[in-house]
Amino acid sequence: MTRILHRQIHNSYPLAVGGKGVEIFDADGRAYIDASGGAAVSCLGHGHPYVTAALHAQADRLAYAHTSFFTTEPAEALADRLIEDAPSGLSHVYFVSGGSEAVEAALKMARQYFVEIGKPERRNIIARRQSYHGNTLGALATGGNEWRRTQFRPLLVETHHIDPCFAYRYQQPGETDQDYAARAAQALEDKILELGPESVMAFVAETVVGATAGAVPPVADYLKRVRAICDRYGVLLILDEVMCGMGRTGTLHACEQDGVSPDIMTIAKGLGGGYQPVGAVLLGQHIFDAFAKGTGFFQHGHTYLGHPMACAASLAVQDVIRRDGLLDNVKRMGAHLTRRLGERFGNHPNVGDIRGRGLFIAVELVEDRSTKATFDPKEKLHARIKREAMARGLMVYPMGGTIDGARGDHVLLAPPFIIDAPMVDAIVERLGDAVDAAITGVKTR
Ligand code: PMP
Repeated sequence: MTRILHRQIHNSYPLAVGGKGVEIFDADGRAYIDASGGAAVSCLGHGHPYVTAALHAQADRLAYAHTSFFTTEPAEALADRLIEDAPSGLSHVYFVSGGSEAVEAALKMARQYFVEIGKPERRNIIARRQSYHGNTLGALATGGNEWRRTQFRPLLVETHHIDPCFAYRYQQPGETDQDYAARAAQALEDKILELGPESVMAFVAETVVGATAGAVPPVADYLKRVRAICDRYGVLLILDEVMCGMGRTGTLHACEQDGVSPDIMTIAKGLGGGYQPVGAVLLGQHIFDAFAKGTGFFQHGHTYLGHPMACAASLAVQDVIRRDGLLDNVKRMGAHLTRRLGERFGNHPNVGDIRGRGLFIAVELVEDRSTKATFDPKEKLHARIKREAMARGLMVYPMGGTIDGARGDHVLLAPPFIIDAPMVDAIVERLGDAVDAAITGVKTR
């Protein structure tokens, strides 16, 4: 009997005992292709010798030193590296242990910034529907996933949600990308004006939406318009790249492709590639200066900030990505995966959309392609796909149901950056079989 409160109490989970490259092995000797990198985490796959050697070396030297007493070599080196490669204007790093912690810290940073510069009336957070920013209370309040929020709503700070930029679901027939970008961004300006610009602290958005809607990139110009609106009203732009960042979309930061720099950016998952729990907040010089000239500290902190093992693992992961030119492979294999998915699912009656960037790709399932009607959420098509995929030795990250009224079940693919074409082909073949079996299961129920 298990003593773990597992995610799904009545499920049984295979016992994972090993991993090599893009595969995980269970205790019965079965291999699973990790086509989702867990939850878009394992960017180098499993058992990477360079990273495990760096971890051993750091454990031998110094596993832990509290940040109120010391700074450490791996933390300083990683911060230098992250700022060297950061979007323009981002000048400093705050290390945490994961994505939710990064979002919490980003929100508190934004708040303290306005207190430091004498604008304490700025407190409102604007974010988007169908987004995910984490499961701690501040991050949960910011996210726009109603299913996750409902029972906790009495505990959540007030936030304000606008529609996302989600072409497949919200772009009108005949509406150009330019017009749609303008309309979607206008929702932000309208909300700022409704709340009163002097009360607004930050706009928070995933550059490419991950867990809730499935690899939804913004249309061209949307984020540029958002940036301009934030600047017009003195609102901080916080881009959450916990899932889509650190190379997942083919550039180190997804926002590079949109030509936009945020005031604050959160990263995690691919930063340490799963070798350690780690996240970070990258902040602009203006925010750092406000703290430095003001109280001289950021009123926050956790026991494991800048953990040497986490920083050493992250530095090693980032070394390998650079050394092996893996961003080029992300672009190449991302294009290959998209092409193969198009061949397999392009004419599939239940596939409405194939979208994403780099190796961050989602397939959206619909009951009716012409109306984009979703499957009945009670059927839990996404869960069926996951079961069918696991039975075929394939890990994919399915999410689903039309809980917010505007989206269907989808499958998110985010394989390791080291993947090659034969493995991509195997993913598409197994996924095709799993999707067909799951849909047959729904229809013949
Ligand atoms: N933000 C985004 C965009 C995420 O995708 C996630 C995790 N899926 C988080 C925040 C929360 O990260 P964590 O699970 O590491 O707390």
